[in-house]
Amino acid sequence: MKRCFFDLSFSELSELLKEYGEPDFRAKQIWQLVYKNLNLSPETFPAVPKELRQKLKEDFEFAPISAIKKVVSQDKRTEKYLFQLADGKKIEAVLMYYRERITICISTQVGCAMNCAFCATGQMGFTRNLSAGEIIGQVLFFAAELKLTEKKLSNIVVMGMGEPFHNFENVMKAIDTINHAEGFQFGERRITVSTVGIVPMIEKFTKAKRQINLAISLHAPSNKIRDQILPINKKYPLEKLLETCQIYVDKTHRRLTFEYALISGLNDSVEDAMRLSKLLRGMLCHVNLIPLNETKKFERKGSTMERANDFKLILDKAGIPCSIRLKRGVDIGAGCGQLVTQT
Ligand code: SF4
Repeated sequence: MKRCFFDLSFSELSELLKEYGEPDFRAKQIWQLVYKNLNLSPETFPAVPKELRQKLKEDFEFAPISAIKKVVSQDKRTEKYLFQLADGKKIEAVLMYYRERITICISTQVGCAMNCAFCATGQMGFTRNLSAGEIIGQVLFFAAELKLTEKKLSNIVVMGMGEPFHNFENVMKAIDTINHAEGFQFGERRITVSTVGIVPMIEKFTKAKRQINLAISLHAPSNKIRDQILPINKKYPLEKLLETCQIYVDKTHRRLTFEYALISGLNDSVEDAMRLSKLLRGMLCHVNLIPLNETKKFERKGSTMERANDFKLILDKAGIPCSIRLKRGVDIGAGCGQLVTQT
């Protein structure tokens, strides 16, 4: 199998071209062709010697993912893609149009090992990590699609299939590439990585002092409830997770986002809202309340909007910044926690 070109960092590409006997400027030239011009056909690289173009084409894969299915939501504002990887495995990713921005939600693993009870991806089990190149491949695919209609990507959320911090190195390598100043130049502040709460990786991320936004899937105000829906909570309980979150905020001075899926009768009572307010009081954070999107193997339903509004009111009164997130793409199974590839 050919090596994926996007798996190469800029310095790895420079090193490789040096080995090929190419001049120093060549790495920057090729990097810009790929990541600035989105030219993914090495045989057409302008001003690159024919022999090198041929070698790159023979040695490297420039299309590590291919779109095999696209579904569009009724309101036309959400598009879900099914991609096939070089080994035949499949992943999904989602494109969302908002009034003033275009966001993509990309995947980092085939399946997921975290087994969150309400999540369709978790219900699939874990197959493998995506390489950095396969993660970048999704971003470049969408960027190229949007370029056809002169549109541009505004935000990337790393919240699709998989737990990004369970594939930490590849995720960070992918972000380094799409952020690279000579290439795609996608600012870290426009990228959000979400984790279910793998404490040692949050600590590692904190030490890296990146500008990337961090979102934590909290979903419960107590261990008793969290244990029921997020198995990771048994390993890293709420108090340890929140202590780590506070250290993150103190060290980086960056605002954290907490995702909270409102599940009817489980975590959406007045007491739950009060408990949550108490837990988060004083922390630089924002809470996203999302009435749960239903999945096949989880019996419970999402909270009503009325309940969501009541919950929000309690957080508002306690001074905890929060908003109710609009459901997107639920009719095509593209909502939070709905990505699955058994189709
Ligand atoms: S919610 Fe995220 S971490 Fe949990 S099973 Fe689904 S993909 Fe994995």
